[in-house]
Amino acid sequence: MKGYHDIGGDGGSRILEQVAEQRSRITDGLTGVRHLVAVGSGKGGVGKSTLTLHLAGALRARGLRIAILDADFNGPSQARMAGVQGALFVPGRHKVALPRTSNGIAVFSMGSLIPESQALEFESAAHGESHTWRATREFSLLSEILRSFEWGALDLLMFDLPPGAERTVQYADFLGPRTSFVLVTIPSEVSRGVVARSVVALSKGPNRILGYVENMSGYYCRDCDAVKPLFASPESSGLDIPCLGTVPFDPDLARHCDQGIPLADLPASPVGRALDRVAQQLMDSLEPPMEPSR
Ligand code: ADP
Repeated sequence: MKGYHDIGGDGGSRILEQVAEQRSRITDGLTGVRHLVAVGSGKGGVGKSTLTLHLAGALRARGLRIAILDADFNGPSQARMAGVQGALFVPGRHKVALPRTSNGIAVFSMGSLIPESQALEFESAAHGESHTWRATREFSLLSEILRSFEWGALDLLMFDLPPGAERTVQYADFLGPRTSFVLVTIPSEVSRGVVARSVVALSKGPNRILGYVENMSGYYCRDCDAVKPLFASPESSGLDIPCLGTVPFDPDLARHCDQGIPLADLPASPVGRALDRVAQQLMDSLEPPMEPSR
């Protein structure tokens, strides 16, 4: 049997060529997309999906053409939050059209295809197969989604990433250096620690990190119309990347996410104003900076 040291180059598997071919097929399908932004963290439950959807809403309100790809195939939240659960996927001449939210954001989420009563299972070659195998299946699915759906001409395609610092880097690798990252944390040391790992891991590659958003930075009490403290952590995040803004926790936002309806008075509330500021920061930090289209 050959040991690793006995294998020269790619061992005759053409693996590097195959990866390069797959990469160019992925970018071929996205030539009409001006900016690719992945919203990650490393940590789960910190508001990646919520911020992706509502930042997309704030950008859409500026007249930009936006789509969201919910890359959390095993825990897809966008379908419910964006109100596209059970939406119809209409085959076009070449590709399949994406469902849209009421404010015109195109959304792909596994949650539109698979009901919440079912789990997504990647067909396995053997019981208990390795993580590497699973990751390969996951990324082939992602590349199929990028190829098969009509992304069209977009100002911004946002990827809502699954948790895991190492996985965040795998996505960076897969999506290529054109993709910039926004990292989401909450003001807890636990979350900041995981996000710090993602920063270190991402910084080794060529992808730009636009900055981080601190979600749940305070609790918005509608009765007293004031933002109150929620976590007792130090104010400074200690993260060595720009802060794109802070967003308070608003129970109304959580309720609207659960029901998949847009928060009607979002721009008028503290959470709405906060999201609007973050959206502006995000536009300004892109290369080249993005202008509103109206
Ligand atoms: P993640 O994508 O990081 O796993 P989610 O976006 O699914 O996290 O958020 C977890 C839960 O917290 C969801 O129910 C969501 O509606 C709620 N949530 C997140 N951010 C806020 C916020 N700023 N205000 C109110 N609820 C929020």
